[in-house]
This record gives sequence, structure tokens and C-alpha cells, in this order.
Amino acid sequence: MHDIEEFRLETRNWLEANCPAAMRLPITQEEIVWGGSQVHFKNEDQRIWFEKMRDKGWFAPSWPKEYGGGGLAPKQARIVEEEMLKLSCRQPQFNLGVWMLGPVLLEIGTEAQKQEHLPPMMQGKIRWCQGFSEPNAGSDLASLKTHARIEANGDFVVNGSKIWTSYGDAADWMYALVRTDNSVRKQEGISFLLINMKSPGVTVKPIELISGKSSFCEVFFDEVRVPAQQLVGPLNGGWTVAKKLLQHERAAMSKFSEGAAPSHDALLVAKAYLYDEDGHLIEPVWRDKLASLLMDSHAFSLTHQRVKEEGLARMDVSGPASIMKLVQTEQEVAKYELLMQLMGQRGMSWEGDEFTKDEHDICRLWLLSKTYVISGGSSEIQLNIIAKRVLGLPG
Ligand SMILES: Cc1cc2nc3c(=O)[nH]c(=O)nc-3n(C[C@H](O)[C@H](O)[C@H](O)COP(=O)(O)OP(=O)(O)OC[C@H]3O[C@@H](n4cnc5c(N)ncnc54)[C@H](O)[C@@H]3O)c2cc1C
Repeated sequence: MHDIEEFRLETRNWLEANCPAAMRLPITQEEIVWGGSQVHFKNEDQRIWFEKMRDKGWFAPSWPKEYGGGGLAPKQARIVEEEMLKLSCRQPQFNLGVWMLGPVLLEIGTEAQKQEHLPPMMQGKIRWCQGFSEPNAGSDLASLKTHARIEANGDFVVNGSKIWTSYGDAADWMYALVRTDNSVRKQEGISFLLINMKSPGVTVKPIELISGKSSFCEVFFDEVRVPAQQLVGPLNGGWTVAKKLLQHERAAMSKFSEGAAPSHDALLVAKAYLYDEDGHLIEPVWRDKLASLLMDSHAFSLTHQRVKEEGLARMDVSGPASIMKLVQTEQEVAKYELLMQLMGQRGMSWEGDEFTKDEHDICRLWLLSKTYVISGGSSEIQLNIIAKRVLGLPG
């Protein structure tokens, strides 16, 4: 107990001494630092915070030191998370590799795969994208058609295409699902491959959205050679690997309100628009709506805390990961809907000096929040999983 409290104190002191003040302000979408070969810092504080956390191994505090992690026990890693939250420290690096692929490689990767891929993630040198969805394989992911032929030496040759690949144009590597057997039940003929985006035959096309901007890409594979050692898990065992990975994706998405994504404190925003000079919210309808949102959010964070503790105790949290993803993302949507209502016309501010930067951000996040209930498996799909795996209802 004493050691743990000492560790907490050391952690807090270290964070206070090393996290620049600007890196303790709420993060906006434009301020996210994505790791990878194209890493870009908008200012010196971002670079300092990234490098300090990297050198400490705290991009992933609980990963073993030999792979560049912090080597902390789960309880200590949890303390780092808690203290970062208390001091409002930003995530120094956003990287699908660290959140999703890394934990899967730690669990089932070969030693060579761990040695090759984990340290560069921990250095923030490689950025990963996710190649799962295809034009006719989103919710029904197992219907994917991108195909890999197996050569005599065990290498794979990939043909086909992926869609909705977030930041495919900025990624260095992709983890992808490909079909390696057409003759069996669709879930049983899929393999999980790691593909270097610089391989000959990979073409990335950004998808332009109505806003003129987009983080989405289509990725095409034309006779792309992938060495045999980049197969994760057994041949044709990719569905199980993907399910593991999606659990980590859902767990990451259930941490949105803990700084894993830009977000706003509803109460702070409401205070700016609804409270009178004496600090009272007199209007009962708004008070009611706000109180209900805050209560839901508090209840979520307590339940989230419990699920995390269960995870630390090595209990099976695969079902709860879907519940947490569902509730957190639906709550973010509800929160931004409420903020838009209470801000009225000012909520619709996309640009222009007559509105504040915060108002622009809220408008953008309101739009973005609508994607949370689709990406990582839609809310309906989470409900299906919960019905089957948590409640044990028939399919
Ligand atoms: C912001 C964002 C980022 C993304 N990034 C990536 C990425 O990096 N890589 C990647 O591979 N994919 C990515 N995706 C794609 C995402 O995984 C798919 O959009 C998602 O799985 C849904 O698939 P779909 O778009 O084909 O919709 P569909 O599967 O066609 O679903 C359409 C609607 O039908 C509902 N529905 C479908 N099946 C059922 C069912 N069985 N029961 C009840 N309702 C059902 C869905 O809930 C949805 O409302 C991203 C999506 C978004 C929005």
C-alpha cells in the first residue's frame, strides 16, 4: 500500500514537472499529434510532451520494457492514467497501433513480430491504419472479399480493396483482414495480415466528403506481396484475431470522456450560456436536461471504473467492452445534441470571427460525434453482441 502511494506521488510530481501547461488544456481535433513517419508538431510544447512520454515508455505504461513500454504493473499503469486525468494531461500520441494492434501482438504475436513492430510504436515512428471494411462488408465484416493467394514459400499476394480506411494516406502500415479460403464458412477463411503501405501495388485514394475534407481513404491492392512472417495468428484464424482487436478498439472508444478523444465538459459550456451572474441556472427545463446528462455521465464513469478493475483482475470483459462503447458513444452524441440546443444559433458556427474558437470546435465535434456510433461497429451491432454474449439470447 505504502509503495503504491509513493508511486502515485512520484507520478504526480513527474507529470507536474514534465507536462507543459498548454498540454493540460482540452485538446481539439486539429491539435491531435498522430505518431508515425509523418509526425507533425504544431508547437514546441507538443514536441516536448511527446518526447518526454516516449522516453519514459509511457505511450503504453504497462507494456514490457524490452518492447519500449514502461514496464509497469497493471496497478501502477492505472495510477499513471488516473494522475494524467486529474492533471488533465493530453494523450501525447494518438496511434491505432498502440491502442489496438499492440495489445493483440503482445498476446498472440510471434517474438519476431513483437520485436519488429512494438518498439517503433513506442517510439511513435510508425502509424497504423485499419483495413477491415469493404464496400459490401461493414457490419457484415465476415463477407469481405479482398483476397490473398499463398505462394509456394508461404508469402501472400493480396488483391482487392478496402474502404473507409481512416488516415490511410498518412499511415505507414496497415493491419488487414483478407480472405485466404473461399471453400469454408465465411468466418473460417479469413487471415490477419500486417501490410507495409509502401509495398509495390498499394494505392491510396482519399475520399472527398461534402465538407471538402476527409480522413477516409480507399486502399487498393494489386498483386501486393506480404511476407509470410506478417501473418498474425493462424492461417484462416483471422476472425478470432479481429474480434480481439475490436475489443481493444471498443475499449479505446469508451475512454472518449477520459481524454482519448477531444471532448467538452458539458457543465462548463452550459455555464457560459445558461447561468446568470450569480452562478444559478434558473430555467427548470434546462436544469433538468443538464442534470440528467451529468448524472448519466457520472454513472457511466463509475461503471467504467468497475469494468477496468475487472479487467485488471483478469476477468472476461469482452461483453462489457461492447456495453461501454455503446453507452459512451451514445452519451457523446446526446451531449453534443444538448450543447447545440443550448447554444442556439451560436452552435452552428463553422468559421468566422464573430464566433469563438470553442464554438467552432463544438460545432465540428457535434458533427464528428455522429460517426462515433458507426465506427468500431455501429450501435445496433453492439446491441446484437450484448444480446448474444452478455444476455445469452438466441442469435
Ligand atoms: C469515422 C469512421 C471511421 C472509420 N474508420 C474505419 C477504418 O479505419 N477502417 C475500417 O476498416 N473501417 C472504418 N470505418 C468503417 C466502419 O467500420 C463501418 O462504417 C461500420 O462497420 C458500418 O458498416 P457500413 O458503413 O458498411 O454500414 P452497414 O453495415 O451497411 O450498416 C448500415 C446500417 O444498418 C445497420 N445494420 C447492419 N447490420 C445490422 C444487423 N445485423 N442488425 C441491426 N442493424 C444492422 C447498421 O447499424 C447501420 O445503421 C469507419 C467508419 C467511420 C464512420
